[in-house]
Amino acid sequence: MTTQKKQKNKPKTSAAMKASDEDSVKAGQEVMLETLRQFKSATSQNYFERVNFVVSVSTDVSEGCKHCGVPIGYEHFAESINHYIQMHDYKLLHVGTVTSLDRDDELIYSSVALLGHE
Ligand SMILES: [Zn+2]
Repeated sequence: MTTQKKQKNKPKTSAAMKASDEDSVKAGQEVMLETLRQFKSATSQNYFERVNFVVSVSTDVSEGCKHCGVPIGYEHFAESINHYIQMHDYKLLHVGTVTSLDRDDELIYSSVALLGHE
């Protein structure tokens, strides 16, 4: 009996609570989202704004560092990114996958990183 009463009362109060809670949560989420949007656009604008020089590092291409000639890319992907960041003050702008075809028309997947310098 008591459990039935509790069960009867509980949904009523929790439903009423839920409605107002949901409203305030929704309003809070809207504020958070808007703040996040503003923050994101501000930071990404600032982040890319002062980049004047861009280099790419690829797992598919082996070349020398644009500044000091150290071997860059190919199997030294992460080390190459670190090299530009640590030795030459670059910042990482983008990492993505590139798909291309080899001589036998087989798909090749490689990774490419773009780094920017002020
Ligand atoms: Zn270098």
